[in-house]
Amino acid sequence: MTTSKKEFNASLKKAKDWDGISRPSNDAYTESWNRIFGGKTEKEEERLKKLKASPVYKEYRDRQNAMARDRYKARKEEKKTEDHGKGVTICKAKDCNNSLYGWTSSKNKEYCVDCV
Ligand SMILES: [Zn+2]
Repeated sequence: MTTSKKEFNASLKKAKDWDGISRPSNDAYTESWNRIFGGKTEKEEERLKKLKASPVYKEYRDRQNAMARDRYKARKEEKKTEDHGKGVTICKAKDCNNSLYGWTSSKNKEYCVDCV
């Protein structure tokens, strides 16, 4: 299926105009919303409050945060090596033009196996 430029722009504009909040409002929707998010009993709220105040919860949250940080760092590191790999294809050593593809030194990624 092909979309004309005009159609594409129109749909883009429509998406941009959306305020990000509005939802279709009907009874079924309201009912579902209440079932999922609303209607918490006081007992449940109290239980949640206690849970969040406990050191176990704090530990859990800290661990989750640390994991998220690690994932983020790992992704960033991955991206860095990717970019690096694209930029360097030939050994950096003077007078060496060996391709680094499949021949990269394990000691220094910028040099070939012969040089380092
Ligand atoms: Zn080399």
